[in-house]
Amino acid sequence: MNRHEKILAKFQAIADNPYAYARLVKEQTGKKLLGFFCSYAPEELMQAAGVIPFRLFGTSQDIELAESHLQSYCCSLVRGGLEDALRGRLDFLDGTVFPHTCDSIQRLSDIWRLNAGFDIHIDAVMPVKLNTPSARKYMIDVLGGVKADLESALAVTITDDDLAESIRLYNNIRSSLSSLYDLRSMNPDILDHSAVYHTMKAAMVMDRNELALDLEHLMDSLGSVKTEIKESGRKRIMLSGGICNLPDIYAIIDEAGGDVVWDDLCTGLRYATGRIEESGDPIEAIASRYSSRMICPAKHLSTTARGDYLFTEVHRKRIDGVIFLLLKFCDPHAFDYPNLKDLVDRANVASMLLEIEEQPAPREQLRTRFETFIEML
Ligand code: SF4
Ligand code: SF4
Repeated sequence: MNRHEKILAKFQAIADNPYAYARLVKEQTGKKLLGFFCSYAPEELMQAAGVIPFRLFGTSQDIELAESHLQSYCCSLVRGGLEDALRGRLDFLDGTVFPHTCDSIQRLSDIWRLNAGFDIHIDAVMPVKLNTPSARKYMIDVLGGVKADLESALAVTITDDDLAESIRLYNNIRSSLSSLYDLRSMNPDILDHSAVYHTMKAAMVMDRNELALDLEHLMDSLGSVKTEIKESGRKRIMLSGGICNLPDIYAIIDEAGGDVVWDDLCTGLRYATGRIEESGDPIEAIASRYSSRMICPAKHLSTTARGDYLFTEVHRKRIDGVIFLLLKFCDPHAFDYPNLKDLVDRANVASMLLEIEEQPAPREQLRTRFETFIEML
């Protein structure tokens, strides 16, 4: 195995079993871990407080206990996360940070506080509209409040130097992750079909200092991004939607003749976009990133922000087809879908919709659907 294969194998092992990694890293480093469900969690503040931010992706097990707290029409991310908490599977967590995004996350926060049994529980009630002067001022106040809550809950002081170091670390991580996307987009053969998925998932749970080093070595080993797309003769696919916790989907699309070369997923590239200014007030700089990163449908920049992004990337990345992945009962993404589909239609790019259930459809069934779609491109 060469160097980058070893690092990618490590990322895959962590992505396959993040809870085992969490227990191990806690034992080895003595650091506290704070869970979060959403890419709007202010991780830079958590990192500056000396904890490891740990993203929760729902559960791979049956959901039973959570049913008595949440309606069955809540998305499986929140129901699955609660199930794992109630079953004691998240015993490595010291607490959780809940940014206010969709109704499901907001309601989960209250239920979690009362039932999950963690010592630390922090709400970050951020504005929905992100790019007005009053929203920016409010966002800065909220982030200041989260910083104070972390300091009080963890009995630490977060200095401006701590924040500056954390910001530099996250800029490095996001820059490496973006480069990895660029690299695979230009040359899909360079990495295994699900390598980017494993890397992104590992990136959201790992000790960020360890991660930054691994990513630096990975990118050194892989080499620089090419300036021209390497033709593979296969169809170039973009995934768009919310959470994707289905590693097999990349292999199935691959078997069906497509390369996933880009995405607009909350567990994908959306997490890695937006650089934070390294000069000036750190809290203000963190607040500014929220209005410059790729937007989620639970937030608002303009009526066309997500569509504009999709339209631009479909052309820039020479996308042949878009697969919309909608997690069942995810209202924000469901509301966005008709507009986005219309826009992709007008760009003369074919698309298909795949609704993701708690238990994915059988592999053969998915492959047939993808083959039909890819043959049509
Ligand atoms: S789609 Fe966006 S707002 Fe919703 S959970 Fe994912 S990151 Fe959070
Ligand atoms: S945005 Fe969608 S996937 Fe994320 S928590 Fe809300 S309903 Fe679930």
